[in-house]
Amino acid sequence: MTPNFILKKQGWIEVICGCMFSGKTEELIRRVRTALIAKQKVQLFNSRLDTRYGIGSIISHNQNKVDALCVKNSAEILPLVKKDTQVVAIDEANFFDKGIVAVCDTLANQGKRVIVAGLDTDYRAEPFEQMAALLAKAEFVTKNHAVCTKCGNPAAFSQRITKDTKRIIVGTTDAYQARCRRCYRKPKEDK
Ligand code: ADP
Ligand code: MG
Ligand code: ZN
Repeated sequence: MTPNFILKKQGWIEVICGCMFSGKTEELIRRVRTALIAKQKVQLFNSRLDTRYGIGSIISHNQNKVDALCVKNSAEILPLVKKDTQVVAIDEANFFDKGIVAVCDTLANQGKRVIVAGLDTDYRAEPFEQMAALLAKAEFVTKNHAVCTKCGNPAAFSQRITKDTKRIIVGTTDAYQARCRRCYRKPKEDK
């Protein structure tokens, strides 16, 4: 998947999207590990909102783990990226503000490979705006699927199983299930 233009110090954006449990974080970690094996300088970022597994690392649902810098918002990222960093990986872009789009663009324009993972849609199956923009701007896009917890078909929807109506509720199997189109039930509007 890594294109030839890595040799020409060309930057680009690659997005890994999909619903909850679709293996976005696992895929991000796999790409980061590959870059590290190639002895590239890699920096990872995560949002402070993602407190599921503790601060200072990115951890997938199956406990795969790499160290990451946890930042409050997108503005904190650029000043932390070192000049000689070749690969910047950002997990849970859906937790970030809209500024994350310009941050990814700037890094790619600086010649860095930007790997960004996140939910493409929220619990109501509506697009996260910053992810929609990133998907449109990216050179490479991967959409992962989970397994529908009801019927076993490929799942693209994140069903919230609590009654919360806030758009962002940080949770794992306590709060969400992966569902296919047939088994997904759209909750009522936010109040
Ligand atoms: P994401 O970042 O997309 O939420 P992760 O990469 O953290 O996903 O975790 C993916 C892992 O979640 C899978 O490898 C599997 O072990 C686990 N998992 C739990 N429930 C499901 C499901 N319904 N479908 C697929 N994987 C699941
Ligand atoms: Mg994840
Ligand atoms: Zn289903």
